[in-house]
Amino acid sequence: MTENIIEVKNLTKIYEEGNVLAVDNISFNIKRGEIFALLGPNGAGKTTTISILATLLFPTEGTAIVNNFDVQKNPDYVRRSIGIVFQEPSLDSEMKGVENLEIHAVLYGMSKNKRRKKIKEVLKLVDLEDKASAFVKNYSGGMKRRLEIARGLLHEPHILFLDEPTLGLDPQTRRKIWEKIMELNKELNITILITTHYMEEADELADRICIMDHGKIIALDSSENLKKQISGDIIDIQFEKFEDKTRIPMLITQLRELPGIKNLTFGSLKDLTDEIPASLNLPKNIPNVNPEMIKARVREIISDPNKLIAAWKKYPMASQMFLNAPLEMKKRVANLFTDDQLNQIPEEIKDEIVKIRQGEITELENETEPIISISCENGGKSLPQIIQKINNNNLIIKTVNMHQPKLEDVFLHFVGRAIREESSNRSKNIKQFIQMRQLRK
Ligand code: ATP
Repeated sequence: MTENIIEVKNLTKIYEEGNVLAVDNISFNIKRGEIFALLGPNGAGKTTTISILATLLFPTEGTAIVNNFDVQKNPDYVRRSIGIVFQEPSLDSEMKGVENLEIHAVLYGMSKNKRRKKIKEVLKLVDLEDKASAFVKNYSGGMKRRLEIARGLLHEPHILFLDEPTLGLDPQTRRKIWEKIMELNKELNITILITTHYMEEADELADRICIMDHGKIIALDSSENLKKQISGDIIDIQFEKFEDKTRIPMLITQLRELPGIKNLTFGSLKDLTDEIPASLNLPKNIPNVNPEMIKARVREIISDPNKLIAAWKKYPMASQMFLNAPLEMKKRVANLFTDDQLNQIPEEIKDEIVKIRQGEITELENETEPIISISCENGGKSLPQIIQKINNNNLIIKTVNMHQPKLEDVFLHFVGRAIREESSNRSKNIKQFIQMRQLRK
């Protein structure tokens, strides 16, 4: 038996439809018995990676070995080695809990006796014995997830893949699922690969965390080691709302010059609903054109890098609209492009996009409460000086919070922005969008 139960080498996935580079030449190993987290924002490539490992997608390039079997050469053996719980709920809610398991066990070709024994066993593992005969439509969100986990365990897999296992669940239920996952890992010695965009989840559960963004691995280590990479203290300062946008850049420049300041990020908490086209100041009242159609078309174009490039090349108005758009909108667009696509973008826009991607462009939304997060060598020493600078700029502090680096700070450090919790079709419950901008020293 090798020490690694999963070995991924130079894995790349390009979705031909839309020409999306979803996974970009990644390599990593997962040790037998490990809980390994793939952490990253929406669209980072986590689901694509896990889907390749689960033999549901073919890679464009590279190899993946799961439990000694190649995902492309021996997909059946790989499937027998793994249990999967996917983001999209896949239970039949018109059936009872036990019936959902029964169908799955039949599909796996288990004999009647074995089915009976295993179903009992897995229901016990996830504490659902009492609810086995209840209809799934009457289950709570947490119970459904536990039933899905039970189903993933029926055929005694060596590895359990959990794709966003607690998405949309309340904190208490989430914690219960975490406890279950840890129990399974310890009691059954089952290796667990989990994808999540909850920092806390990765921090709590995983032996090692692999941070992904834009299809690439940005950092991979234990939570503790990742945190060590940004030693010192973090000071978060939240300000009262203010109108004058020019004060923050001035303050940031002054803070950066203080001794012992290592890094500084600036952002604001903001609720983001799907208002992208609205934020673009689209032309109104074009004769004979339904404004809703224009919005729909824009929505389509701004989700497709190739269409965007074509529009920018052809219509000067499209370029102007992009350049005048709010920063958060531009950031969404800026992150769509691969390096190749970037080179096809008209110069003026490309420059803007590169700056946005590097975190060089910042702007303050005056309707929100701005936050500055400062990483420094010694918080106690720096704090009085920081407060003095803020007072000199006549800004009013709402809260100050000094703490040791958290995984969130690690993510900021590596990715240059906070992890996004966007509303999406798959996660309607998640409304809050955290936008942060990094001003590197
Ligand atoms: P999430 O947290 O939203 O699940 P993720 O990190 O799992 O995000 P993926 O779902 O792997 O990310 O998506 C990576 C990229 O590939 C995204 O840009 C996504 O839009 C794109 N993508 C995913 N599936 C497809 C598909 N079937 N066809 C085209 N593009 C796709």
